[in-house]
Amino acid sequence: MREEIVADLKWVAEYWPDLLEARLPGTPRPWRQMDLTPEAIAERDEQARIERFERSLLTLGASPAPVDVTILSTVLDLLVHADDLAAAVAHTTGDSPLPPPGPGELDARPYLLYAARRLPDDLVEWAAPTARQMVDRVAHALSMVYAGQRLDVTCPWCRQEAAWRVRDLPGGMIAIVCESGAVCEPPAREVGTWWGGRPVWPVQDWARLARHLQAAEERGRIAS
Ligand SMILES: [Zn+2]
Repeated sequence: MREEIVADLKWVAEYWPDLLEARLPGTPRPWRQMDLTPEAIAERDEQARIERFERSLLTLGASPAPVDVTILSTVLDLLVHADDLAAAVAHTTGDSPLPPPGPGELDARPYLLYAARRLPDDLVEWAAPTARQMVDRVAHALSMVYAGQRLDVTCPWCRQEAAWRVRDLPGGMIAIVCESGAVCEPPAREVGTWWGGRPVWPVQDWARLARHLQAAEERGRIAS
């Protein structure tokens, strides 16, 4: 269960910039740099590297929808939850806590990554629903912006271009669906689920999907 929580927290950190951009489309990211420990800086840089790599693969097209006040309230709520989580972790482990976010500081990532890195066994059960709820809330906020958009990638399984689309599926599942006209049948271990005979990757699987895509593209380059 611990690995799932860590994965959830890292996922939220990964998509945090997208959430902020969704809040204020076309505006530079508004947060100021906080005082971070060298460890947190190293982790943040590593995170930024992974994020650049993954986001460059799953770049969503056209400009986002207009600002939505529910996105702003999601940002603020999640920031509070992330700060609480990091503070609870610091309290339990005895590590020095991160300073709370100052006015106008909207970066939850240091808190998410702090908690992900240090989460003690004692807090696993307590933190699990919070982490999962964070993922759901980010996914839903982003779906308001991204639903319906096509991704400019070639499906590694059916080889069709621009067949992937972000969908808000029944049950509130935000997912990438391969909507190519061709038969698309990824092996069971590489697909999240199915919908109307089409392979579906829920939002939690996107980072993994991006890595798979990267590997497929590299194999393609070597082969050609
Ligand atoms: Zn496909």
